[in-house]
Amino acid sequence: MGKPTGFMEYKRQGPDARPVAERVKDYEEIYSLLPEQTLVTQAARCMDCGIPFCQGMGCPVENLIPEFNDLIYRNRWREALEVLHSTNNFPEFTGRVCPAPCEPACVVAIHDDPVSIRQIELQIIEKGFEQGWVEPQPPSRETGKRVAVVGGGPAGLACAQQLRRAGHTVVLYEKQDRLGGLLRYGIPDFKLDKGTIDRRLRQLKAEGIDFRTSVHIGPDVSARYLVRQYDALCLAGGAMQPRDLPVPGRELEGVHFAMDFLEQQNRRVAGDTIPAQEEILAGGKRVVVIGGGDTGADCVGTSNRQGAAQVSQIEILPKPPQGSNPDTPWPTWPNVLRTGSSHDEGCTRYWSRMTTRLEGKHGRVNRLHGVEVELDTASGKLVEKSGTEFEMEVDLVLLAMGFVHPVHDGMIDELELIRDSRGNVMADKDFLSSHEKIFSAGDMVRGASLVVHAIFQGRQAARGIDKYLMGETNLL
Ligand SMILES: Cc1cc2nc3c(=O)[nH]c(=O)nc-3n(C[C@H](O)[C@H](O)[C@H](O)COP(=O)(O)OP(=O)(O)OC[C@H]3O[C@@H](n4cnc5c(N)ncnc54)[C@H](O)[C@@H]3O)c2cc1C
Ligand code: SF4
Repeated sequence: MGKPTGFMEYKRQGPDARPVAERVKDYEEIYSLLPEQTLVTQAARCMDCGIPFCQGMGCPVENLIPEFNDLIYRNRWREALEVLHSTNNFPEFTGRVCPAPCEPACVVAIHDDPVSIRQIELQIIEKGFEQGWVEPQPPSRETGKRVAVVGGGPAGLACAQQLRRAGHTVVLYEKQDRLGGLLRYGIPDFKLDKGTIDRRLRQLKAEGIDFRTSVHIGPDVSARYLVRQYDALCLAGGAMQPRDLPVPGRELEGVHFAMDFLEQQNRRVAGDTIPAQEEILAGGKRVVVIGGGDTGADCVGTSNRQGAAQVSQIEILPKPPQGSNPDTPWPTWPNVLRTGSSHDEGCTRYWSRMTTRLEGKHGRVNRLHGVEVELDTASGKLVEKSGTEFEMEVDLVLLAMGFVHPVHDGMIDELELIRDSRGNVMADKDFLSSHEKIFSAGDMVRGASLVVHAIFQGRQAARGIDKYLMGETNLL
């Protein structure tokens, strides 16, 4: 254990955010790193509990949190990096964008602010890259087995890296022109600098993974062909079927899925040119984002950076309580009001509001009609509150209501894989699908979720595949 009295002596300290007026003018990351000595003090707040709830109940990849906290307190950074990498292939992604369910599960959180676990994770890996400690780890022997991974998001990348390190030949197919999945074309640059993906990809390439981008399995190369060519497959294609808004006026110009808007902006930052007739821009417009989650918040941050005249965000669910919520006690993930950095940059937020109709002029949206809703305790359903109809003037409507399931058309339909009741690919505890040599991981199995779950499942699918190919596995 670091410092037995650390949690009593030191207060939690988070990283500094760049001032709003400065950061809305660019797409660079918002937070800076803590000075190294401050981070060591933060690590000293860890109590090394007998049962580390942060690790066992909080962190989906089961990062060895008390261990790396202790090593940082003792200034043993390189060992801390090894401990961190032993459970998580890409801590630079989770260190930036993980909502950190480990932190509300931290024992210190019962009576005080939790240990800054995510920040410590981030700074361990950043120091690792800075010092040149993140080196390729190619396998010492080749098994001669060939595996195809479909999808270059965090699940596919984690799976590919694990399999390659176990000595298998790994070919990863990605339909987009660049790798990273939603890390690349969903999460904005101001939350995750894309250089962090390229930096990690250099390691994966040097380890010998064969990346084939701009190959859409299904339309370009048949999935059955892959089944014939490879000893095993891992499908990690995400869950990209967006939830639509079936209201009158949905077809008007100026109404778009959030992902179309966000992808374009990430491409612009990457230096791509978007054809003028396809551009979705918020500059000078009154923007309404429908959907109060993280994707919605990313639309808010991006709209403000593009110079929107006004940004509003509408959520159908009631406003969660502030601070704490007795319905979600420690160590569970608290359902409380969260205000992200994008909200701080300017946004009017509404809860308990449902959109009923969109109105337009000359084919372009210019008004949103809605009504307030409330929970009917008898039926458990949200019902309209009479007399609460409202209207909002709007020039751009962004639909950020989540994703229903993976895209079925193409690869999944072609392979006739069994799906669960929500439409996700059904897989067992080894992430084996209904086909004897096809495994699946990430959002494709779990439904739209988090980067940390995708990494975990990618690792677990690699374990399942290694066991299937070799009869046993040493992968964690
Ligand atoms: C806007 C947005 C913001 C988010 N912010 C966060 C956040 O802050 N923190 C967090 O933890 N999570 C966040 N998430 C969720 C997170 O990004 C996903 O849960 C995670 O990326 C899922 O990883 P994955 O590898 O399963 O799928 P994806 O990242 O979706 O990657 C799947 C890849 O497969 C490719 N593909 C699909 N089908 C085929 C095919 N047939 N052939 C070839 N390639 C194919 C796709 O092009 C894609 O690149 C966010 C999601 C969105 C949409
Ligand atoms: S991956 Fe997420 S949950 Fe796990 S230690 Fe890091 S921030 Fe916490």
